[in-house]
Amino acid sequence: MSDTESKENLDVYEGALARLGRIAEEVHAPAEVCEALQQPKAVLAATLPVRMDDGATRYFDAYRCRYNDILGPTKGGIRYHPAVTVAEVKALALWMTLKCAVVGLPYGGGKGGVVVDPKKLSRMEIERLSRAYVRAMADFIGPDTDIPAPDVYTNARIMGWMVDEYQVIMRRRAPDVITGKPVIVGGSHGRDEATGRGAYIVIRELAKRRKMKPDKTRVAVQGFGNAGYNVAKLLQDDGYRIVAVSDSKGAIFSEEGFDVESLFHQKQETRELKGVYCEGSVCQMVDHDKITNEELLELDVDILVPAALESVIGTWNVDRIRAPVVVEVANGPVNGDVDETLRERGVIVAPDILTNAGGVTVSYFEWVQNRQGDQWSVEKVRDRLEETMTSAFDAVWSAAEERSLSLRSAAYAVALDRIGEALATQGTREFFQDGR
Ligand code: NAD
Repeated sequence: MSDTESKENLDVYEGALARLGRIAEEVHAPAEVCEALQQPKAVLAATLPVRMDDGATRYFDAYRCRYNDILGPTKGGIRYHPAVTVAEVKALALWMTLKCAVVGLPYGGGKGGVVVDPKKLSRMEIERLSRAYVRAMADFIGPDTDIPAPDVYTNARIMGWMVDEYQVIMRRRAPDVITGKPVIVGGSHGRDEATGRGAYIVIRELAKRRKMKPDKTRVAVQGFGNAGYNVAKLLQDDGYRIVAVSDSKGAIFSEEGFDVESLFHQKQETRELKGVYCEGSVCQMVDHDKITNEELLELDVDILVPAALESVIGTWNVDRIRAPVVVEVANGPVNGDVDETLRERGVIVAPDILTNAGGVTVSYFEWVQNRQGDQWSVEKVRDRLEETMTSAFDAVWSAAEERSLSLRSAAYAVALDRIGEALATQGTREFFQDGR
């Protein structure tokens, strides 16, 4: 089997369940918790008919998964990507369940996706697609049941269209049905940077524990979108050297390090208009060496930050990964079957369910503000995010130290404990057998 085939054949959901099973056994999680997480609560598949600009109707496959809601309404982004599958949506929804539990949010996990290459649609087609998604899912989502947000190739503007459509259908205001909206229609200050800021806090805390000095630390970031750009920017502000970045079109490397802000602006300027999507590529800018995305992952840097899509480190390239610290800003960038290899080699992996939880945390703040009819200052959002992320990091770090676990296993242990505690309130096998 070729490398590409092995990647394509990997069912990301099966991989997610296998990892969960392995870690649950390692941390002695109760059987009830594992059983509860073996399947989603509900999955809705729909076909979205969308009028194209030329008058033709095209049909798009769309999904929404509510994985587990024992801790609260399900929460998770909507992805627009040609490679979306129902397996991917379920895996992402499972990870959202664990993520919300790690940071202690009153949410379960959900996720959605549309099989589409949004770069091939006009803005009006994207608007019609987004509204069609909400029409198909309107009975499945809701402020107390399932709350979507942005993910890959969806953004605040798209969330704004979606909220608007939902409100038209429901004939009432419901800003709390979707987070990541534009601020003027109920979005939260600080939501756009939240995933990157949360990841930055995790890296900062990790660096403290490992006595890494920012000015001596070289970082490579794969994926220069919302999450990748924001984490790179905050790291650079702290003195870290960002030596490589990439997007879907390729990667660039500079030993001296890039100025992240000007890279971002140049990327913006290569578009004709600042629109829904960035059409420029980082490959076109500043003095640099062009490298491939594969080469970026294999660079000899101090911290590697995969911030694009899942499954970029697996059996095919794990032996060539040289960074001693891998920070999973994307969801699922490291395949479960190489967790042990990386651990044996002493590579520290900051796991996705902790590292990228800043986004859902500020989404939760947005939902709270919407329900209170309030709007917090960006300072308040950042303070609360700082508090949530540092305490989640501390809980995971302590679990790792006390129980001799990897950070990933420790994060799963914290999440499974919380989910287990909630399940226990409804009665366990032991409880019912005792009182029979
Ligand atoms: P985005 O759409 O803003 O950016 C994605 C970036 O990845 C783009 O720059 C794109 O060009 C790049 N990319 C796509 N394919 C690539 C490839 N093969 N190689 C290198 N780069 C590639 O998306 P985002 O919101 O930044 O999401 C990125 C990751 O972070 C995803 O895994 C997402 O699930 C995760 N995440 C995002 C949030 C959030 O709030 N946005 C929260 C938690 C997790």
